[in-house]
Amino acid sequence: MQVDVEPGVVGDDLNEELADRGLHFPSFPQSAAFSTIGGMLATDASGTKTVKYGEVGDWVLGLEVVRADGSVVETGTRARKSSAGYNLTELFVGSEGTLGVITRATLDLTALPAETVGGRATFATLDAATDAITDVVRSGIDVATLELIDPLTAEMANAYTGSDLPATPAVFFEIHGRGAAAELDAVTERFEAHDATRIESTANEEEMAELWRARREIGHALKEWDPDRALEVVGDVTVPIGSYPSIVAFIGEVSEEYGLPIPAFGHAGDGNAHYALLCDPGDPEERTRAHAASERIIERAIDLGGTCTGEHGIGADKRSQLRAEAGDEAVRTMRDVKEALDPNGILNPGTVLDDVDG
Ligand SMILES: Cc1cc2nc3c(=O)[nH]c(=O)nc-3n(C[C@H](O)[C@H](O)[C@H](O)COP(=O)(O)OP(=O)(O)OC[C@H]3O[C@@H](n4cnc5c(N)ncnc54)[C@H](O)[C@@H]3O)c2cc1C
Repeated sequence: MQVDVEPGVVGDDLNEELADRGLHFPSFPQSAAFSTIGGMLATDASGTKTVKYGEVGDWVLGLEVVRADGSVVETGTRARKSSAGYNLTELFVGSEGTLGVITRATLDLTALPAETVGGRATFATLDAATDAITDVVRSGIDVATLELIDPLTAEMANAYTGSDLPATPAVFFEIHGRGAAAELDAVTERFEAHDATRIESTANEEEMAELWRARREIGHALKEWDPDRALEVVGDVTVPIGSYPSIVAFIGEVSEEYGLPIPAFGHAGDGNAHYALLCDPGDPEERTRAHAASERIIERAIDLGGTCTGEHGIGADKRSQLRAEAGDEAVRTMRDVKEALDPNGILNPGTVLDDVDG
């Protein structure tokens, strides 16, 4: 139930290989069709199934990493747990290539679920949908996936996929395991308590893929929505689940205040709200406004005890928000770690800490 894998392997290719053995790596992001193990570990990616299985980093037992001085360090063991010394595996996971280059990973695996049921539910209002989501999580129902799309995103997905989602908020869900039927009843009950307008579910793989098509294709749908507009900002703020309704509602308020359509969607069961700002590339004023709107959303997420990035990482774009989120002492500690491991700043310059004073 473990695999040693090189960093250039693509996520879905690995799972295809593992399926013959009845196993899978359960936590890949939605981009697993093209994202690599190295990239996913370096960003500590997560995805639609994180609500049950955690982040990519939660399944890493050990790493081989090349350090800035050319030496090679092995971290972790093959045991599921260890209290031996500093957790170097977790230090490198999510470090976005700024502390070392991952050259091999030992990943933990799990059995493919014995049963899977899933589907989608629509709601009359965004508040009803987000309240239903927090209610399901609070109720302790064992969901593997709980995703939201707002009415504008539904419209975009329909236009791209030809699907027929009503232009209302929709929640997509999946439940894994032998108790799936009972958990489905519990989910249905919670959705009905929040006046779901329609609930569809199935255990048939092809039917499920069809129900999920609109959610799966959002990345492409956003890009194709308006030929005169390009993706200027893709946000991935994440807040405690109790604040999820509030951050989604706030994205709507910011959209009105800044006069910009902002589709909101994402891995709702984790409190993760994705949003996108599409701009005319030749309109600098609109692009500036889009970044200001995104900053407002990030500030609110941080105020709610959340993070500016639940899964994409700081990269170059969110460096200015790192201090607001982490605080002076945490940034100083990160800077100390960076300087100890990469004193000449040769590993992924311009990423995470560059231009953030220690
Ligand atoms: C349509 C779409 C959907 C997406 N959905 C999700 C989602 O559901 N969840 C999610 O978390 N993200 C998602 N993403 C974002 C992105 O795909 C992830 O961040 C992914 O994990 C990055 O993998 P990659 O192979 O593309 O890495 P890259 O983009 O190539 O690299 C990412 C970072 O990792 C560093 N890196 C790469 N390899 C190594 C290595 N071997 N050692 C050290 N550092 C390394 C790079 O330098 C870079 O800083 C999505 C993106 C798209 C376009």
